[in-house]
Formats: sequence, structure tokens, C-alpha cells
Amino acid sequence: MIRTSRFAPSPTGRLHLGHAWSAVQAHALARASDGRFLLRIEDIDQGRSRPEHVEGILADLAWLGLEHDGPVAFQSQRMPIYAEALDRLKVKGLVYPCFCTRADIAREVAASASAPHGSDGPVYPGTCRELAPDVRARRLAVEPHAWRIDMARAVAAAGPLEWRDAHVGVVRADPQGQGDVVLARKDAGVSYHLAVTVDDAAQGVTDVVRGRDLFAATHVHRLLQALLDLPTPFYHHHPLLVGSDGERLAKRHGAPTLESMRLAGVDGRALAGDLRAGRLPLGFALASA
Ligand code: GLU
Repeated sequence: MIRTSRFAPSPTGRLHLGHAWSAVQAHALARASDGRFLLRIEDIDQGRSRPEHVEGILADLAWLGLEHDGPVAFQSQRMPIYAEALDRLKVKGLVYPCFCTRADIAREVAASASAPHGSDGPVYPGTCRELAPDVRARRLAVEPHAWRIDMARAVAAAGPLEWRDAHVGVVRADPQGQGDVVLARKDAGVSYHLAVTVDDAAQGVTDVVRGRDLFAATHVHRLLQALLDLPTPFYHHHPLLVGSDGERLAKRHGAPTLESMRLAGVDGRALAGDLRAGRLPLGFALASA
């Protein structure tokens, strides 16, 4: 089997050093085994994705010397494939339409004495799961809606599941903690969870290299793999890069972009070599958790 890894950025901003750290590891894994390193642009959010950021990603990877194999995949061009996967879950009765707005959910959560929390905050309180069939059908015809997984039913249908992570070993899947996550967004027709799971399988990805911030999401992805009869890759959830203040390098925190480093004359290939060897630029560290 050819080992295949991927780098899957969302073109909603410029890449920063944390992205380079992740891409270098995914690339090194593929190159160490004569495997493939794929580039997938995760542009399902058409409101926030920008063509100039796609250009930026290509320029940044070229600067780092991380050549990818095969054509670049764009999630925005794969919507019918995600719809087909969602249909399969509809047929199994494992998803339901959700008409709630963010405000509806916040109100519902605030009103509940002990709202359970997942990795992304309070889990969905289940309002639309309990709709009477006739009400649901009527609203479905006229109201904008997302599709959520019925987590309890899906977990019962799939049975116990495991996945393997390079850093922590065998992990028992615990998707229940994430609640009824969205599989198809109201505004986008698909969600990160469904698109990434379908695509990793479709592209033959054997090794998913990504940050620990996505560890909890893998519980959901493992469940979707079981429900959709897809293979389970090997996961490498690497520690995140943080600044000297311990703060994550999220784009919104104003971390220097790779573009700004390039313009400042930094040698991208040398930087990639340092990252590959585990040498971090001054002022950066690995998060302990
Ligand atoms: N597109 C996601 C991001 O930019 C990463 C997806 C993944 O690696 O699974 O955060």
C-alpha cells in the first residue's frame, strides 16, 4: 500500500508558521516512504474562501519546497459526492434536519441548567431531533435547514469503534461527547466533518497528519467511516505551535504569515528543513497539551 498524506488548508486567510509545521510533517511522512503528499483546498465555506488565498497557499508551499503530488483537490467541486454520502445516512435514518438558528441554540442552552459541552462548546440540545414527523416534513419543504447526525442512534448502529494515533496509540472512539454535530451546514450544504471523512477515503489517504486541536473531531470521523463503510486512516495529531506567550498561532491572533516571512527574506526551504528536524524559530514552542 502506498502511504498517502495530505495537507488540507482552508483558503480563508494566509498561512502562518503553524500551517508550515503541519505541512512539513505530512510531507516528510510521505517522502520517507516513497508515498504521496496531496494538497486539498477545503473551500466549502464559499462566504469566507478567497481565490487569492488559494494562490497564497500554492506560493507558500512552493517557497517551503513542499511539492505536492497529483492535482490539487477542491472541496467546492465535490458537493454532489458529499450529498450522496448524506443521502446514505438519511436512508439509514441517522440524520435529521435542523431548523435552529445560532440564537435559538444559544437560548436553549442558556435555559438549560447543565448543558453538556463538547470540544467546540455546548453541544446541540436536540431541539429538532424531537420534531413530530408531520411538522418536520412541513418545515423541510419551506425552511432553510442543516442536517445533524442523531448521535445516539448512530453510535448504537455502529457499535464500539477504535482508531490509532501515532502519539497516543489506540483510542476508543467517543463521538457521543460531541453531540448531534452538523453534517450539512445550512449555508454550505456540507460540513467539515463529512467532507473531510469522505475525501480522505476518496483520495486514499492512509495517514492523516494534523494538529491536536482536531483530535476530538476524529471521534466523529471514525464514526462516519463506520457508517459509510470507509477505511480508517492512521492519525498523527501533532502538538500545536504556540508563541512565546503560549498563545496558539490562529490567523486571527495576528501571527506573522508565511508571506510576511518570505517578504522579509526568510529562506523557506531552510525553514522547512529546520521544522523537519524539530528546530523551531526563536519565540515559538510546542504546546504541552
Ligand atoms: N481544513 C482544516 C483546517 O484548515 C484542516 C482539516 C484537516 O486536516 O482535517 O483547519
